[in-house]
Amino acid sequence: MSYSEIKDFLTEKDVELVAVSKTHSVDKIKKLYDLGQRIFGENKVQELVEKKDILPQDIQWHMIGHLQSNKVKYIAPFVHLIHSLDRLKLAKEINKEGRKNDRIVPCLLQIRIAKEDTKFGVHPSELEAFLENFLERDYTHIKIQGVMGMATFTEDRELVASEFTNLYRIFENVKNKYFRHDPDFSIKSMGMSGDYKIAVECGSNMVRIGSLIFGSRNY
Ligand SMILES: *Cc1c(COP(=O)(O)O)cnc(C)c1O
Repeated sequence: MSYSEIKDFLTEKDVELVAVSKTHSVDKIKKLYDLGQRIFGENKVQELVEKKDILPQDIQWHMIGHLQSNKVKYIAPFVHLIHSLDRLKLAKEINKEGRKNDRIVPCLLQIRIAKEDTKFGVHPSELEAFLENFLERDYTHIKIQGVMGMATFTEDRELVASEFTNLYRIFENVKNKYFRHDPDFSIKSMGMSGDYKIAVECGSNMVRIGSLIFGSRNY
């Protein structure tokens, strides 16, 4: 499917597109940029920083992959959104680097919604404790703007839909309990190449699509 077809589908539904450019060349990214795409996602800090330095400066870079605390300093000056906040230690580090750079770093809480064993993300049962702890600290240079989750990698569409629906409900609960008066807490980042249509049906308003736009990745 072509970029414009995907983009049109998403625009009509008011869903933001993060073009996941990991492993793909700056030439390919520039082609998409020339078609109007401004939001790109990477999952490795070094690759993100290298591309950022070469490409147009009005690109909004999203960090979508697991983030080590000791690498936050490299992206804190410019990153537009971190999708993978999943531990307090990382929150503390992002806040610290945000302060150093005199900016508030926007983040999403990564939630573990998949049945399959994934290492990353806050488990739903630990979410309240995480948030109570986080909010107690009154961090001034980090801002949680929503949630991110990945569904199980499977052909079972019902399972995928149930996991996305679960994330949608978690978003609503967290919003009502902790962010009721915060209009910026609004992002549900869910859906990738294989399941973005299901995600949109389940209430996603931000999808992260790589291979469907760029072709398959050669690692
Ligand atoms: C790679 C990646 C994507 C995009 O995957 P595709 O299947 O290529 O669309 C989305 N989200 C995360 C966190 C990723 O690492």
